[in-house]
Amino acid sequence: MPYRFNFDLTKISSNLFKEIARVAYAKQAHRRISHITRSLIKRLRIDEITGLQFSEALQLVEDLVDIYLLNAIQKEKFEKTSKRALFLPHCARKYMDSRCKAIFKPEVPTYVCQHCSPDCLVNQATTYAQKMSYDVYIVAGGSGIPQILRKNRYEGVVGVACSEELKLAATYIKTFNLPGQAVPLIRNGCSETKFNLEELIEILKTGK
Ligand code: SF4
Repeated sequence: MPYRFNFDLTKISSNLFKEIARVAYAKQAHRRISHITRSLIKRLRIDEITGLQFSEALQLVEDLVDIYLLNAIQKEKFEKTSKRALFLPHCARKYMDSRCKAIFKPEVPTYVCQHCSPDCLVNQATTYAQKMSYDVYIVAGGSGIPQILRKNRYEGVVGVACSEELKLAATYIKTFNLPGQAVPLIRNGCSETKFNLEELIEILKTGK
């Protein structure tokens, strides 16, 4: 289920959420982190900058912290994997209409990027990941992921999606007992969504 609100975190460093998660993980303080998150949102005016209501900003930031905590918990296992898959969201393509030349393969299901636009985020992520020997899937949602994981024996998975969907995807991946790493979207919506490519590349390089 995607969020019922739109957000744009492109003006906020994702390092902030990573840092909260890192401290929480180091201090085993996840349950006590909620009040820190609340005061950070107020202090850094995250609700004002993003135009979100305070409750929406709180949900979003708590989900982001959860994602980075899960990444920290799974990193060691993930580092030891070699056969990996990368799942990218189709809404991050440069175009969502016929200008995108990606071919949809329903039997997988995935879009296959035809590299029509050098400045397309999905193209850049796909090209880099394939060079690093990842199998890349450009998916319209999480529902096709179990089918893909059943057909292929991956050892590790990387996913890019909005943080609420990533939390759901984590439950799928858990049933396959696979270590995963996630990159949350910094701008959601039905199209022109954004993720941090440098952050994704850092994760793709893990253990390589
Ligand atoms: S580069 Fe790939 S994903 Fe991006 S618009 Fe072109 S075909 Fe679609």
